[in-house]
Amino acid sequence: MSAQMVRLQSLQFNVAGLMKGPLGGVREYDLRVPISEMDQIDESFDVTGPFIGSVHMLKASDTVLVRMEGSLTVRLVCSRCLELFDAEIPVVIEEEFRPSINLVTGRVVRDLGDDAAVVIDERHILDLTEVLRQSIVLALPVAPVCDPDCQGLCPVCGANRNTETCHCEADSIDPRWSALSVLLDDVKE
Ligand SMILES: [Zn+2]
Ligand SMILES: [Zn+2]
Repeated sequence: MSAQMVRLQSLQFNVAGLMKGPLGGVREYDLRVPISEMDQIDESFDVTGPFIGSVHMLKASDTVLVRMEGSLTVRLVCSRCLELFDAEIPVVIEEEFRPSINLVTGRVVRDLGDDAAVVIDERHILDLTEVLRQSIVLALPVAPVCDPDCQGLCPVCGANRNTETCHCEADSIDPRWSALSVLLDDVKE
């Protein structure tokens, strides 16, 4: 039977006990990490809701296998109407963290590989902040839309068609382009 999960408000975990324990040892936590822990995480996006999810850590031979799942809310700009909106970004992380100190010998581990994001520091802190940041960046939509039915901006007058009704012709063509359209018609013929 698994014990009731402890809820944590941080992305930093002291894994000394887990590392000293037997192979296959497990730690599991409910996570509710407040915005204040994450609002400086990356300048390219604004976190507007807490990270809510869970983390599962498994002691392997020399490493800790981490699986974190959850979601958080990020403020985005709609690619159609250019309005700001909040989007829930789902996150699934699977990583293998390596200790920088050998707990048996106390020696500093020299060969840590080149990914500093998955190194457990000398105080035995496993920090998920950087892997979470990377996974948010990868999960952000390339062309976010505030709503699948967003009508976007009128290409003629620039009105937001979600909130305004303009009187531009649906198929009106900018006069600067009309010469081009004649050429295109010629090509078609
Ligand atoms: Zn929109
Ligand atoms: Zn218009």
